[in-house]
Amino acid sequence: MSGEPIVIIGGGMTGMIAQQHVPYSLILDWGPPPALAERALPKQWGANYWWKPIAGMACEEFDVITTIDGAVATPEAIHAYKTRVGKAQETYTRPGMVASQFENRAKGYTPLEFLEPKNIRYKSHVVSIDPFRRHVCLRDGSVVRYEKLISTIPLPALRDMVDAAVLTSFDTVRFQSAPIYVVEKKDTFRPRASMSVDYRTTGPAYRATAHRDGSLHLEYSDTPRGEMSKKLIPGRIYDTPYARPLVAEMALMDIYCFGRYARWDSDELLHQTDEDIQIWAGTLNMYS
Ligand SMILES: Cc1cc2nc3c(=O)[nH]c(=O)nc-3n(C[C@H](O)[C@H](O)[C@H](O)COP(=O)(O)OP(=O)(O)OC[C@H]3O[C@@H](n4cnc5c(N)ncnc54)[C@H](O)[C@@H]3O)c2cc1C
Repeated sequence: MSGEPIVIIGGGMTGMIAQQHVPYSLILDWGPPPALAERALPKQWGANYWWKPIAGMACEEFDVITTIDGAVATPEAIHAYKTRVGKAQETYTRPGMVASQFENRAKGYTPLEFLEPKNIRYKSHVVSIDPFRRHVCLRDGSVVRYEKLISTIPLPALRDMVDAAVLTSFDTVRFQSAPIYVVEKKDTFRPRASMSVDYRTTGPAYRATAHRDGSLHLEYSDTPRGEMSKKLIPGRIYDTPYARPLVAEMALMDIYCFGRYARWDSDELLHQTDEDIQIWAGTLNMYS
């Protein structure tokens, strides 16, 4: 059995940001090591841009133009769009978030460097967690001990990994989500200085993003006919009042959830995740 003070489940952006703030941590990711050609900037799917630079990384700033059906957003158009994606009744955890999302002109950021994980084990599929013995079990039968565990994987998956006897009140909670299908059309436009995001209240795609490299990304709620698409899971998540208490209960067992999917918080963006991890890392004086 090996042991690390802090173990991170998931080597996506959140896991890598967490390791930036907690450099002595170990990342476990179920995927294979990336091919050399893929060791570049994170692949963007859909309307994916940062609202602020994160993890102290050098970033490029650019303009983002946002519209609904090609026009500046109005409260009515926002409501029509939210209704279309099943979020008309959503309760927002972050006031001002919706207005910022649909602001006609904003700044976006993209990193100029790749976050190189320092201590990561690929092909490490976590299948269960024992919060009493403080270890995670991997699919190959091995066990990794931890003092504190960071989860970046979707909250329902984490819930299922922790012994049901520990989390009786959350056993039956249903977490609702819907896959997103993204079609990437390369070289649709000439490269341009700004990014354009158009939300659509009608038509097959609900969002179209013209990236600065000239590509167009179309996002759908169902498999688009006759198009090669990338399926993103969990994709669109629907908030539930059970997520926060479950995240809080996990923290009492020294399992800390960071990221949109890990907290099951549809409003969470990466700059907020970055700030949360930074604050949490600042409380870790026992190893400093
Ligand atoms: C279409 C779209 C647009 C978005 N736009 C924005 C945006 O504009 N701005 C923004 O800030 N955010 C945006 N987001 C959200 C953004 O994608 C996420 O905040 C972030 O990239 C997710 O990264 P993550 O590391 O939290 O999760 P993931 O990338 O899902 O990483 C989780 C990792 O965990 C690993 N894993 C899973 N299960 C296990 C297991 N059992 N054992 C070991 N490893 C496991 C996986 O291999 C994966 O590498 C968008 C998301 C989508 C889908």
